[in-house]
Amino acid sequence: MRFTLALATTVTLAATFVFPAAASAAAVSSTAVGYGGAVATVDPTATAVGLEVLRKGGNAVDAAVATAAALGVTEPFSAGIGGGGFFVYYDAKHKTVSTIDGRESGPATMTENIFVDPADGLPYDFQEARVSGLSVGTPGSLATWEAAAKKWGTRSLSSLLQPAAAVADKGFPVDATFRQQITDNAAAFGQFDATKKLYLPGGAPPVVGSTQRNPDLADTYRLIAKRGTDVFYKGAVGADIVRTVQHPPVSSTPVGTWAYPIRPGDLRLSDLAKYRVNFPAPTRSDYRGLTVYGMSTPSSGGTTVGEALNILEKTDLSKVSTTQALHQYAESTALSFADRNRYVGAYTSQSVLKKLLSDRWAGQRACQIDPAHALVKPVPPGDLNATGCTPAKAGAPVEEGQSTTNLTVTDRWGNIVEYTLTIEQTGGNAMVVPGRGFLLNNELTDFNFTGTQGTAPDPNLPGPNKRPRSSMSPTIVLKHGKPFLALGSPGGATIITTVLQILINRVDLGLTLPQAMAAPRASQRNSAGIQAEPAFHQQYGPGLEALGHTFGPDVAELGAATAIEFTGYGGVIATAEPVRRGGGSAAVVKPQR
Ligand code: GLU
Repeated sequence: MRFTLALATTVTLAATFVFPAAASAAAVSSTAVGYGGAVATVDPTATAVGLEVLRKGGNAVDAAVATAAALGVTEPFSAGIGGGGFFVYYDAKHKTVSTIDGRESGPATMTENIFVDPADGLPYDFQEARVSGLSVGTPGSLATWEAAAKKWGTRSLSSLLQPAAAVADKGFPVDATFRQQITDNAAAFGQFDATKKLYLPGGAPPVVGSTQRNPDLADTYRLIAKRGTDVFYKGAVGADIVRTVQHPPVSSTPVGTWAYPIRPGDLRLSDLAKYRVNFPAPTRSDYRGLTVYGMSTPSSGGTTVGEALNILEKTDLSKVSTTQALHQYAESTALSFADRNRYVGAYTSQSVLKKLLSDRWAGQRACQIDPAHALVKPVPPGDLNATGCTPAKAGAPVEEGQSTTNLTVTDRWGNIVEYTLTIEQTGGNAMVVPGRGFLLNNELTDFNFTGTQGTAPDPNLPGPNKRPRSSMSPTIVLKHGKPFLALGSPGGATIITTVLQILINRVDLGLTLPQAMAAPRASQRNSAGIQAEPAFHQQYGPGLEALGHTFGPDVAELGAATAIEFTGYGGVIATAEPVRRGGGSAAVVKPQR
């Protein structure tokens, strides 16, 4: 989110008075070139927080944790301690890539039909499921920060929460994106006193340019800093979370009307107490001499990006027309999404994941692509037992929300963090935990409410303690064993296609990283029509339509990515969105002169 360039510089300085002027001034650009470390996020205040940690000698993990905590303040509708995410870390010294799965997990008592209305046996409407206690999983963000700081950081979690607490206390400027996100959620937010108080002061969204403070969240961060994460997972904050889930604090004086009953959930303190992050091995795929590391299950990001790249590798995209390259892109993602929807969930076996990421499988799927004609969508998933080109069975697309945020950080030693974090929908489940200042996630609505695969099993149905499938795709790419690119994005299931499209733009289509980020986007996730931004539809629609592709309704924006390219000898190009979601903020420790 960015205000206007001039104004943002001024207000960011005021809001983050603890940070030197240079940090704030640098933070309002969407591209920064230099060395010594870099931070890219959607928000200048959060970027400035991370940069300051780097400047003071912290490493990429320290900066990522401090930045994430700051995003919990300034991007509260996308991320925070009420949510979860996936953290990918490149260790420059050991040349290894590790990950943290900080995904929310469902309660021990969660059953497969949690989102089926017992009254009529039908799945709840999405919004009915979302704004409820049923949708809330045990938040994983704080445990992720703690694990990352302990394993790879050089600062205590307590110290890394302080800058964010200061931002929450002092406040930050409300920009158009922030206000719009509240406006879009006004009916849901208006049902809960704590949410109303924070985000609908006087019954309406705060005006652009006003200062947004969150003293309750500042206190919560400080309490955690003082007492440790047990106060969240086993103590007073956890008890407040559980109370909010089990007894949604519905206002007796709501602002606006909400069309659905607000149902309680059954998340218990015992669920929070036994929550642990996991450290799955990253997914790995080779693409035109690059090594692409991604996030394994419960995210489908790594396998789906990897499968699509393997399919795309069968064609030299740099040697075909742009239309043909985009045709191959759309077909590769339709095929990969069919397989993802059919096979990938929290409990998918390693052997199936390995198969989906194999070159042989890519060959069995790529053979279906006809350069002259688009496949009829939805395409069926492949048959894992087939030995040749594998054909269709009925498949159905699955959608997720459009919220979330992403950050990319590197330090002077060459360590990298790529981290996507979320509370699922913009505004999560709309309940601010009373007295604690943060919104709860609705991550459990990422489960399929009922089976989507006909008579075949659905890998993403709810179950006790289960983590819902994600599309988050924090990705780190090495070239000849050295960092080349780190990138990620929000955007629900479109995350996968956004990450792929930036990669293809950069690697195959000859664009620079800032160009690859800014280029118009489209997403084919195995549904009848390609979902495209208007500029993409206009520019490439006729060529793709001539091949038989169809377009669904256009969407204003796909994704809000951040990325860093490593140019050798410590040089970096850090990038955020120039325009999408109001524009992001990239900064380097030492700008190139
Ligand atoms: N909950 C989604 C996922 O895990 C992310 C939501 C979004 O990016 O909008 O894939």
